[in-house]
Amino acid sequence: MTIREMMKYIESEYQIINSTPCEICGGNFIADSIGINIVNSFPFDVCHCICEDCGHKKTFKFSSPFVFSDEENLNAFKRDMN
Ligand SMILES: [Zn+2]
Repeated sequence: MTIREMMKYIESEYQIINSTPCEICGGNFIADSIGINIVNSFPFDVCHCICEDCGHKKTFKFSSPFVFSDEENLNAFKRDMN
């Protein structure tokens, strides 16, 4: 998977976040930080979001289709994200 494809995938995550209303006030969530976590050698995304209206925090988790062939790819990707 190329960086470009990864970005496309992350874009689709943002779409999910953007279409999820705040459960407190119905406002929009904005992504505060996004990170790739590895659990049992399976990567998934954890995105910390905050409601732009009331400041309510919500964590979105996405199981990731990313397949990193080696650690270096993953590190390169993390660098790109920062
Ligand atoms: Zn809110």
